[in-house]
Amino acid sequence: MLGKNINGYTVIDSIGSGAFGHTYKVQKDEKIYAMKILKPEAMSFEIQSEGFVRFQREIRALQKVKSDYVVEYYDSGEWIDKSVKHYYIIMEYIEGMDFDRYLKLHRTTFIKREDLMKDIFSQILKGLFDIHKVNIIHRDLKPANIYITIHSKVKLLDFGLVKMLDYSTITTKGKLVGTPLFMAPEMIEGKEIDYRSDLYSFGVLLYYIYTNKYPFTGENVFVLLNNIVQQFPKRISDTFPNISNAMENIILKLLEKQPYLRPFKDAKELEKVILDIPLLQVKVSLHKIKDKSFPKKRFFVRLLHTEKTEVERYLKAGGSIDGVEYPANYLPKYKNQLSDLKKFAIPFFFDPSTNRLAYSKFADTKGLVELPYVYDQYNRITPKHFSSLENIRKYTADVLNWQLRWDVDFLVAPFHYSKTLSDEWLSVDLKLIEESFDFKEKKNIKKEIFAGICIDIEDLTDEENRLELINKYSRRLPDGFIFYINNIYEKTTNRAQLFAYIDLLLKFKQLKRPLIAARVGNLGLGLMEVGIDSFSSGIASLTSFSEQTLLSNRQKGYDMERKYYIKDLLVSLKIGLANEILERFPGYRCSCKFCQNEYRIDKIYNCAKVHFLQVRSEEMKLINDKKSRTFIELAKSAKAHLDKIKKTGIVLPPYNHIETWIDVFSEFRR
Ligand SMILES: [Zn+2]
Repeated sequence: MLGKNINGYTVIDSIGSGAFGHTYKVQKDEKIYAMKILKPEAMSFEIQSEGFVRFQREIRALQKVKSDYVVEYYDSGEWIDKSVKHYYIIMEYIEGMDFDRYLKLHRTTFIKREDLMKDIFSQILKGLFDIHKVNIIHRDLKPANIYITIHSKVKLLDFGLVKMLDYSTITTKGKLVGTPLFMAPEMIEGKEIDYRSDLYSFGVLLYYIYTNKYPFTGENVFVLLNNIVQQFPKRISDTFPNISNAMENIILKLLEKQPYLRPFKDAKELEKVILDIPLLQVKVSLHKIKDKSFPKKRFFVRLLHTEKTEVERYLKAGGSIDGVEYPANYLPKYKNQLSDLKKFAIPFFFDPSTNRLAYSKFADTKGLVELPYVYDQYNRITPKHFSSLENIRKYTADVLNWQLRWDVDFLVAPFHYSKTLSDEWLSVDLKLIEESFDFKEKKNIKKEIFAGICIDIEDLTDEENRLELINKYSRRLPDGFIFYINNIYEKTTNRAQLFAYIDLLLKFKQLKRPLIAARVGNLGLGLMEVGIDSFSSGIASLTSFSEQTLLSNRQKGYDMERKYYIKDLLVSLKIGLANEILERFPGYRCSCKFCQNEYRIDKIYNCAKVHFLQVRSEEMKLINDKKSRTFIELAKSAKAHLDKIKKTGIVLPPYNHIETWIDVFSEFRR
């Protein structure tokens, strides 16, 4: 081709080749241009049947675009080479490189430079605006069609050309060319398109810049096109955690399948929004954040609606409670209880139980199904539900509003159970935290927001994974954390798992936020000693969280067996067994104001719960006053007592977890 003269244009260099044609550097009358020669077989049916006149008319329409940010089309023509008719376009020649190449060379620095990003994005949107102004749609916005000149000026290329081309030529080749990756779903479906289809492509471009990945891919063109129409993109912050929530939301909106859900009046409005927001996460230095740890160690009672009278009895006798954790269901039954708590100024929060909604059992659980954030009483919630920003926001608002209605002391962002770090739910939960804080800001809510972390411990027995988890959760730092960890409960005997759990909590403690180790039973006493703020468990029941309980059939809800806590043994025992031990060994009887050294079945049954509250509050006082024996000493002595009892022939439930405590806590004292 070099040296060839085409209608007065001399070809002096080859610039590049695309799916639809080839571009050359040409010269005419001392001036340099770019000439794009289109492949005849790539032309659309209309152009092929109506011929050059139609082609020229289309190009003339495109010539109406006048913009500093868009390449100029000067001329068009027809050229017959070896008896094959070609159409060409003469365009402004630009020196620089296309954005595709630019990103390959500079992406890692580009995505750190907010000023540079804003400048380039703003120029692209200005170019789009100028194209749209004369009622033209670009239709093919992608990095290869964005030129960055040597002076960092943006020029959009190839606008409007796709309209004259036949897309089936790329699909029959079956090879992935760049263009369809950026194509809006409505274009693929042959529906009406407008400027919002270009905004969609701009969304894909932003997604690509941040993640170096496309929101949708496929092993062949057919799968890709189908995925663009059907699938939802993976979260950007999973790949690029430094993106700001505001920017992530804009990209989510631009990638909406329905054009009306990309809510920008025009490219100019979008430009204004982007210039107004942070593109990258505002970083908080750990050294500068305020320490929000609880001023003293607290024990939260996970309270049931059936326990109102017990609590009243305890409080009226002068007892005190550090705080209360309510499971979300059975809420209507709490009404009176809540006013009592207010009267005694006892702080409380709600476990929103959102994790339970992801299991089919929720549909059979009274109270749960009636929560205002259950949208479908027969279908459990799945991560798919959170593909659209609209759904994410509605759910967040419903979960938080419902807690606000009961005037809780602090809010808990919705959370779900993740089996591993790569679980889709984890990524959803992180987004829900971001949106919870957005909601708080928009509604000017003063209450703090805690994050619930609900995950299996096994994946976290790898220290790398613990670090990854803390990195994820410190991105948008919540005001506190509540840990519901599967496989960690009072009777955990797996040493590596218990070690991982304690180490995880200690790592999170560096974030200077209060930590609540939820549903860990008496194990919590040990956690207080290593520096955790608080723990929760039921009144001598509900001492564990597990995925199994999310699935289990509990027809009568929390109608659990009452147990009696024997302090010296660090265990809660069935009433019959407790009676047997107290009768044989008077030394274990409790002298608190409720028990008064009782051992008879009906008596200890009657005072089991108030006694537990009383003893636990005394234990917490000793811990806070630093007068408690160390947890290891307590555990060692409990084990010795239990061994002694066992020798007398009394059948005890397994207590080897106490040995696990001794071993693992010793590790942390070193
Ligand atoms: Zn007692």
